[in-house]
Amino acid sequence: MKKSYYIDYPQASFEGQPHRYRCLFCKEETTKINGRLEGHLPSCEYRLKLEQAGYELEDSEQHPALAGTDEFD
Ligand SMILES: [Zn+2]
Repeated sequence: MKKSYYIDYPQASFEGQPHRYRCLFCKEETTKINGRLEGHLPSCEYRLKLEQAGYELEDSEQHPALAGTDEFD
């Protein structure tokens, strides 16, 4: 089971920056998450919930626009 974009997670704006949003659970910015489940932290409540529901990570596909921007540290 896989979705193209994971954007139905609760979001909250940065304090003092109403045009920037981040995941309410893991606090990752929406521009970093970029609709990807793996954009959330492994401990993110939303990510865990979808993983448990059977949704898969898009780890086998690299979005061209994101090449070189992934950080694994
Ligand atoms: Zn999250």
